[in-house]
Amino acid sequence: MATAMVGIRLGCSINVKSIYETGCLFFLTANLFQRKFHSKSCSHVVQTATKSNPSPATKQQCKFGLLFDIDGVIVRGRNVLPHSVEAFQKLVDINGNFRVPTIFVTNAGNTMRHQKAQQLSDWLGVQINEQQVVMSHSPLRMFRQFHEKHCLISGQGPIVEIAKGLGFTKVTTVDQLRNCFPTLDAVDHKRRIHVPCAFERYFPRIEAVVLFGEPVRWETSLQLILDVLMSNGLPCESLPIAPYPHLPVLACNMDLQWMAEACTARFGHGAFLVCLENLYKKITGKDVIYTALVGKPSEITYLHAEHCLLQEARKIGITSPIKSLYAIGDNINTDIFGANLYNHYIQKRTKQKRKEKAEVLAHVKVTAGRSRETDLSRMGIIPEADFNLEVEEGVISCKSVLVHTGVYNQDFDEGDFDHSPRDFLPAEAALKEPTYKVEDVLSAVNLIFNEENFS
Ligand SMILES: [Mg+2]
Repeated sequence: MATAMVGIRLGCSINVKSIYETGCLFFLTANLFQRKFHSKSCSHVVQTATKSNPSPATKQQCKFGLLFDIDGVIVRGRNVLPHSVEAFQKLVDINGNFRVPTIFVTNAGNTMRHQKAQQLSDWLGVQINEQQVVMSHSPLRMFRQFHEKHCLISGQGPIVEIAKGLGFTKVTTVDQLRNCFPTLDAVDHKRRIHVPCAFERYFPRIEAVVLFGEPVRWETSLQLILDVLMSNGLPCESLPIAPYPHLPVLACNMDLQWMAEACTARFGHGAFLVCLENLYKKITGKDVIYTALVGKPSEITYLHAEHCLLQEARKIGITSPIKSLYAIGDNINTDIFGANLYNHYIQKRTKQKRKEKAEVLAHVKVTAGRSRETDLSRMGIIPEADFNLEVEEGVISCKSVLVHTGVYNQDFDEGDFDHSPRDFLPAEAALKEPTYKVEDVLSAVNLIFNEENFS
C-alpha cells in the first residue's frame, strides 16, 4: 500500500464557488494531497446554493437530479441496452426537453465531450448537449498549475485534442517520445530501432505525466513512462538514483474493468495503472505517487458533476432547490463506491453548513437582544424568520443505484479481492453497498420517480 498518499480526494476545507468562479484548483490541490481516506479532521465550506431562473418553470418541479454511468447501464459496447430509450423518454417532455436535470458521468476518456454527447443523442433519441457529459478527464480543466508545463500524455484516441481542450499547452504523446528516443522501446523485436536520435539531448524535459486512459501498446507506454519518471523527464539520461518523489503524475479513470460486448468484463485503465504501479515498485522499491486521481470513484469528479447538474437544472427552468442526487451505475467499485463516498462528503458538508448557520443565528439573537429594531434594520441583519436553512443547504444526499446489466454479477462473489484503486484501499464494506439494486436503467428511473413522488 502506498505510503505517500496520493490523489485528489475531498477532505479538506474548500470553497466550490471559488473553484468554479476562478477555474483554479491550485489552493485545493495544495490542501487535498496527502490525505488519507478516513480523515475526520477536515471541514467544508461549500456553496452550492442555486438562484431562481427567470425562464418558465416546468409543470412539475423536481427536487432531484440524475447521474448516469454509460457503459453497462445504457450501452454495452456499441449496443444500446433494452429499455434505455424508454427510460430516457420518461425524463423529457413532449418537446424532447429534459424535465429532470440529468448528467452523464463516465470514466471513458478516449473521446471529446461533444462526441460523447452526439453518441448519446444518437443512441437515446434525445438531444444531449456536451455540458451534460462529465468524462473522467473533465476535472483536469481545473488543474491550471500544470497547463503550462511540458506533459507526457498517455492513452488512445484524440488525446492531444482532449489535452488541449482541457487547457494543456505543451504535450508530447508516448508515440512522439518514442520517435525522439528510438532506442527505448525494445520489447517488440520487430519494432526496435537501433540508431539513437542525434537530437535527444535537445528534447525539452518532461515536467509531468498525464495518463488519460489505457494505451494500445502497453509495453511501450509502461517502458517510456517509467523511463521518464526515473530520469526526471529526460530519458536519454541515466541517473545513479531515480529521483523521488518523481515527477507529478495525473491519472484519469481508475476502472480495473469495464463491460463491453463480451460476456465478461474487459481490462480498463485501472489495470494499466496496476501494471505501472507494480513495475515502478519492483524496479525502484517505491510507490508511484499520483498527484491527482480523477474520474469515478474520486469525489472531485462527483463534485464537478454536481456543479454541472445544478447548472443544468437552472438551464431547464427548475427553480426548486435540488436536494437529492441519484447515481446509477453497474460497477460496485466505481459507481456505487464513488456515489457513497460522495454522499459521505455531502453529509459532512451539510453538517458544516448547518453549524455555520446556527452560529450566525445565535449571533443574530445576541445582537438582537442588545439592539433596537432600527439598529438591526440599519445593520442589514436578517430577521430570524427569514433564515431559510433549507434553501442554502443545496444537495443533501447522493444515493447509489446498482443495475444488473453490466460489470456487476450477483453470481460472482468478490470474496477477499478488492478491485478498488490502490489509493482507495481499504474500501469500507458499507461504502460498497448500493442504496438500491434494480434490474436495468428503466427500473432505476421508475424507482427514483416513485421515491420522489414524481411522474
Ligand atoms: Mg459502467
